Amino acid sequence: MYNDLTGKTVVITGGATGIGRAMALRFGQEKANVVINYFGGNQEVEALVSRIESYGGKAVGVYGDVSKEEDVKKIVTAAHEQFGSLDVMINNAGIENEIPSEKMTLENWKRVIDVNLTGAFLGCRDAIDYMLKYKIKGTVINISSVHEVIPWPHFLHYAASKGGIKMMTQTLALEFAPQGIRVNNIAPGAINTPINAAKFADPSLKAGVESLIPLGYIGKPEEIAAVAAWLASSESSYVTGITLFADGGMTKFPSFQGGKG
Ligand code: NAD
Repeated sequence: MYNDLTGKTVVITGGATGIGRAMALRFGQEKANVVINYFGGNQEVEALVSRIESYGGKAVGVYGDVSKEEDVKKIVTAAHEQFGSLDVMINNAGIENEIPSEKMTLENWKRVIDVNLTGAFLGCRDAIDYMLKYKIKGTVINISSVHEVIPWPHFLHYAASKGGIKMMTQTLALEFAPQGIRVNNIAPGAINTPINAAKFADPSLKAGVESLIPLGYIGKPEEIAAVAAWLASSESSYVTGITLFADGGMTKFPSFQGGKG
């Protein structure tokens, strides 16, 4: 636990499920104020808010589509109105779908770029604008993916969006370091969440993914939440502009294991 997160206000986009949900619970355990953006029904969020409150944190759910400028403004404004601050912005909302590149329509391409990259841009922009206005030395955490470096056929839009997040993070880190605002990326490997539940329900597909992971197992959302808590805390005070890979070694060329190659 990081004592300095108590009472800090943390915004998490796409926070009702998967990695976002685990982060919301973790920041609740840290007794932070959590703004949970959701983009589906509100039942999951209501249960999440109650659990966070039972830990001693505070939380509120805010509906919104991160690809819409006005919705992201509403999410950031909710942090100010509900809790009077915004210290940690986590751009986590993301989507993916498998389409061979030659069949990918412009609409397919745009939707993934709009949610994953433009959504993260809007979250970064509005959060940083707020932090500058109130002289908050805050932290922005973007959720990219191992596919910011690993090419991914049939997921061209997704890989392009995550590669874009990588360079956006580095540029913003450089631009706002003088004001003490840190901007970092977390790149998860394969994590068991709703985004890939169907794939991991198939034993042979699951085994195929596991064979790409040197640590030998599919990660848990809580293992990403632990990284986010560290990056949000002052324990990482000298860290900005990085991508922290939490991927069980997936980006370390597993096909070379055992001296192959
Ligand atoms: P998930 O599907 O549970 O989470 C994605 C969340 O984004 C959902 O809550 C969804 O409602 C929300 N969302 C979708 N479109 C939105 C929109 N337009 N506006 C606001 N919210 C929207 O899956 P997850 O695995 O928890 O994904 C979280 C992030 O982690 C994503 O950015 C994903 O690309 C990234 N990631 C996941 C993995 C993995 O293996 N699970 C690996 C690498 C990166």
